[in-house]
Amino acid sequence: MKPKKKDIRSLTKEQLREFFEKNGDKAFRGNQVYEWLWTKSLHTFEAMTNISKETREMLQENFVINHIEVDSMQRSKDGTIKNGIRLHDGLIVESVLIPTEKRTTACVSSQVGCSLDCRFCATSRLKRMRNLNPDEIYDQVVAINKQSKLYHNHKLSNIVFMGMGEPLMNYNNVIKSIDKITSPEGLGMSSKRITVSTSGVPKIIKKMADDEVKFNLAVSLHSAIDEVRTSIMPFNETFPLKDLGESLVYWYEKTQRVVTYEYIVWDGINDKKEDIKALINFCKLIPCKVNLIEYNPIDDGEFQQASSRAIDNYISNLEMHDIVVNVRRSRGKDIDAACGQLANKS
Ligand code: SAH
Repeated sequence: MKPKKKDIRSLTKEQLREFFEKNGDKAFRGNQVYEWLWTKSLHTFEAMTNISKETREMLQENFVINHIEVDSMQRSKDGTIKNGIRLHDGLIVESVLIPTEKRTTACVSSQVGCSLDCRFCATSRLKRMRNLNPDEIYDQVVAINKQSKLYHNHKLSNIVFMGMGEPLMNYNNVIKSIDKITSPEGLGMSSKRITVSTSGVPKIIKKMADDEVKFNLAVSLHSAIDEVRTSIMPFNETFPLKDLGESLVYWYEKTQRVVTYEYIVWDGINDKKEDIKALINFCKLIPCKVNLIEYNPIDDGEFQQASSRAIDNYISNLEMHDIVVNVRRSRGKDIDAACGQLANKS
């Protein structure tokens, strides 16, 4: 049996240059091919018009270009677009384009399914099937950038890693994808416009600080009381709040960057005085802001959004303690494209 061809996009630019040199060509050819693969995002060797026919055939014999396809597209009344993305092995993930008046945001997936088990999130029902490769994350951004230009006449302005999966459980590939997204040889986007959202993996948060990453960090907190948090996010047992808090202090010391806490208030779960008090104490650890997000129901009503009175209570108490708090309305709910609703229903 012939050995399986390698995905050419798993090679770094340096490795591509070496490949050409070894094959009796100029290293510079590697730069040209790299540009087709990343800057221009083309997915066939034939399209590489400044490369000779022989070289293209030689590439074809040695490599494949794995790439994603937009398999399905749904548009919400509010302009949100949910894409079902088919990966080269047939698995599907979802990515969302979220337009607002001033900008368009891509919400991308980092894993097929998810390693975590948050009880209120549809993706957790899928279990983790595999991590996405850097090019599979990059391609989602390229696809949504095209949609942004087509439907909104401007380039994508922001990226959030809030689709399927836990980005910090696929850290190396997420970092590689962000390198490509921000590189002038890739999409040239600013890392300040990228937010990685995590349920909180303390060891990796510290590593990110050590790596001096330049993107923003958001943590899905939902409760600052271990017992409550473990009951809704069972992995909190392994990564308790004390460790999470310590890692965030480390993050802030190293990066001086504010962290956003994502927080849903549920009826009867975290709507009491002591829940608010615990959140305020947690917020004292480092400069931060709180995004109160609307709950998007996923099933039989086990979880229900708290009353507006309970939410107002949170807001006034946080503000009393000078904590910045925003209320985030959901987008794309009618097509199951909102946070926590991504589960390949179609
Ligand atoms: N694993 C990462 C990123 C994916 S979840 C994380 O946990 O942050 C992205 C955001 O959607 C998180 O803040 C998560 O808590 C939130 N979320 C999950 N399920 C939700 C639901 N049903 N309604 C609203 N937000 C939800």
